[in-house]
Amino acid sequence: MMVQCCVCRRVRQEDRWVPTPRAAEPREKVSHGYCPRCASEAFKEIRRLHASRRKASSASVA
Ligand SMILES: [Zn+2]
Repeated sequence: MMVQCCVCRRVRQEDRWVPTPRAAEPREKVSHGYCPRCASEAFKEIRRLHASRRKASSASVA
Protein backbone atom coordinates (compact mmCIF):
# COMPACT_ATOMS: atom_id res chain seq x y z
CA MET A 1 0.00 0.00 0.00
CA MET A 2 1.19 3.43 -0.93
CA VAL A 3 1.33 6.23 1.60
CA GLN A 4 0.84 9.71 0.23
CA CYS A 5 1.18 12.98 2.04
CA CYS A 6 -2.17 14.74 1.84
CA VAL A 7 -0.47 18.14 1.91
CA CYS A 8 2.45 18.05 -0.52
CA ARG A 9 1.38 14.87 -2.40
CA ARG A 10 4.73 13.21 -2.04
CA VAL A 11 4.67 9.46 -1.56
CA ARG A 12 6.74 7.36 0.76
CA GLN A 13 9.20 5.01 -0.84
CA GLU A 14 11.20 2.97 1.60
CA ASP A 15 12.19 5.64 4.10
CA ARG A 16 12.19 8.57 1.70
CA TRP A 17 9.43 10.90 0.57
CA VAL A 18 9.51 11.53 -3.14
CA PRO A 19 7.37 13.50 -5.58
CA THR A 20 4.45 11.50 -6.92
CA PRO A 21 5.91 9.03 -9.43
CA ARG A 22 4.25 8.71 -12.86
CA ALA A 23 0.52 9.23 -12.87
CA ALA A 24 -0.91 8.03 -9.60
CA GLU A 25 -2.09 4.51 -10.13
CA PRO A 26 -5.74 4.34 -9.11
CA ARG A 27 -5.43 0.58 -8.82
CA GLU A 28 -2.99 0.90 -6.02
CA LYS A 29 -4.42 1.47 -2.57
CA VAL A 30 -3.35 4.81 -1.24
CA SER A 31 -3.27 5.72 2.40
CA HIS A 32 -3.15 9.40 3.15
CA GLY A 33 -1.00 10.75 5.86
CA TYR A 34 1.64 13.37 6.49
CA CYS A 35 5.25 13.32 5.56
CA PRO A 36 7.53 14.35 8.46
CA ARG A 37 7.84 17.91 7.18
CA CYS A 38 4.13 18.46 6.71
CA ALA A 39 3.40 16.63 9.95
CA SER A 40 5.50 19.07 11.93
CA GLU A 41 3.82 21.98 10.13
CA ALA A 42 0.39 20.52 10.84
CA PHE A 43 1.37 19.85 14.44
CA LYS A 44 2.47 23.45 14.88
CA GLU A 45 -0.80 24.65 13.37
CA ILE A 46 -2.85 22.37 15.63
CA ARG A 47 -0.99 23.56 18.71
CA ARG A 48 -1.53 27.14 17.64
CA LEU A 49 -5.26 26.52 17.17
CA HIS A 50 -5.53 24.75 20.52
CA ALA A 51 -3.66 27.54 22.26
CA SER A 52 -5.87 30.24 20.80
CA ARG A 53 -9.01 28.22 21.48
CA ARG A 54 -7.97 27.66 25.07
CA LYS A 55 -7.27 31.36 25.43
CA ALA A 56 -10.67 32.23 23.97
CA SER A 57 -12.61 29.78 26.14
CA SER A 58 -10.87 30.84 29.35
CA ALA A 59 -11.61 34.45 28.45
CA SER A 60 -15.30 33.71 27.99
CA VAL A 61 -15.40 31.83 31.31
CA ALA A 62 -13.72 34.63 33.20
ZN1 LIG B 1 4.08 16.54 2.89
